[in-house]
Amino acid sequence: MKIHEYQAKELLRKFDVPVLFSRVVFSPEEAGKITYEEFVQRGINTIVVKAQVHAGGRGKGTIHNIFSGEPHILYDKPVRGVNIIKDGNISDMAYQYAKTILGHKLITIQTGEAGSIVRRLLIEEGVSIAKEFYAGMLLDRQVGKNVIMVSTEGGVEIEKVAAETPEKILKEWINPKIGFQQFQARRLGFGLGLSGEAFKSFVNFITKLVNAYEALDCSLLEINPLVLTTDNHMIALDAKMNFDDNALYRHPEYLELRDESEEDPLEVEASKYDLNYIKLDGNVGCMVNGAGLAMSTMDLIQLSGGQPANFLDVGGGANVERISNAFRIMMSDPNVKAVLINIFGGIVRCDKVADGIVEALKNVQVNLPVIVRLDGTNASGGIKTLMKSGLKFKVAKTFEEAAKLVTEVVSKN
Ligand code: ADP
Ligand code: MG
Repeated sequence: MKIHEYQAKELLRKFDVPVLFSRVVFSPEEAGKITYEEFVQRGINTIVVKAQVHAGGRGKGTIHNIFSGEPHILYDKPVRGVNIIKDGNISDMAYQYAKTILGHKLITIQTGEAGSIVRRLLIEEGVSIAKEFYAGMLLDRQVGKNVIMVSTEGGVEIEKVAAETPEKILKEWINPKIGFQQFQARRLGFGLGLSGEAFKSFVNFITKLVNAYEALDCSLLEINPLVLTTDNHMIALDAKMNFDDNALYRHPEYLELRDESEEDPLEVEASKYDLNYIKLDGNVGCMVNGAGLAMSTMDLIQLSGGQPANFLDVGGGANVERISNAFRIMMSDPNVKAVLINIFGGIVRCDKVADGIVEALKNVQVNLPVIVRLDGTNASGGIKTLMKSGLKFKVAKTFEEAAKLVTEVVSKN
């Protein structure tokens, strides 16, 4: 589960991770008022207006008109996802920025052409930056330990650093039995070339960050940039926080942090029925049991020249309700031109699944070609059921044939 920067910063504040003073706003009027009352009146003369969307790359991203698609310009400059405001009547400027951003589209390298509609803004005090670093933490699945990573190459895409100059990323793995150790924090600090006050501030920062990551059950916590201010303090300027979905039951309070408008509507719908669904850009709808088979189905469709429209694992107990919902969600994707059902019967019997499919197709209108491949336990019984049903299926004998058939069908349509 993903949350917004402002929500992540509120949580970090609770764990004493240094962040700047900031306030979230939802309208231009509020932006102007809050800037005046909470920033100007406190003597803060530089603020940063930051679009709150789940995608990154906002600093370089541009705001586009929701109707015309034209880029927005303000004070002779393109309006971005992150804008520094100073010199002048900053509360009026905050109002003007909010007006050109809220309700409009932010396009960044992470959002793609479609962009993300901005509905919330974070107003944050501006800080004078001496150097930008990177700090990130996640589970290293290969060794089964949390890993903390830091780099002097902050503020830029860390994926690029990892690919081109991996030696510039320093890592420490946390032994779950003894936890994060101070010598590790110091090793990272020395590795970044820090000394004196900056070094002390870093050791404190990283120790608190690890605490927060563990206590909050994060699956990812990324601070990019982690900045060293000109007065030698380490501060989280940006924060990306994802929670481990398997631990959500321990945190009912996270429910209100969810922003469904940032998620794909079909994925939100699928999650209500416990379906493992991820929307993709192709036109072959896939319904498969088991995540591994679902992945190889996508591979085989691509190998035969087609493009999957989704990843969908209907799970082991593929019953009528789940199959109906899966069909319904797939049919609401206008890109889908044909459906491939690929079931391998292990514990779940193919004849039961076939019964489920026939029943489900009574509830949901499917006006597209459906190609079915059943194999494994009671496969022949399942195929008989499908043939007798009077519904139009194309039955494929093998997995490969199924992928070829479905690709042929979509290329003709
Ligand atoms: P994104 O990663 O989506 O581009 P960031 O929050 O990292 O957004 O902001 C982009 C850049 O804007 C930062 O690298 C930093 O240089 C600058 N910036 C962000 N917040 C502030 C702030 N409060 N004060 C000064 N500069 C900031
Ligand atoms: Mg950033």
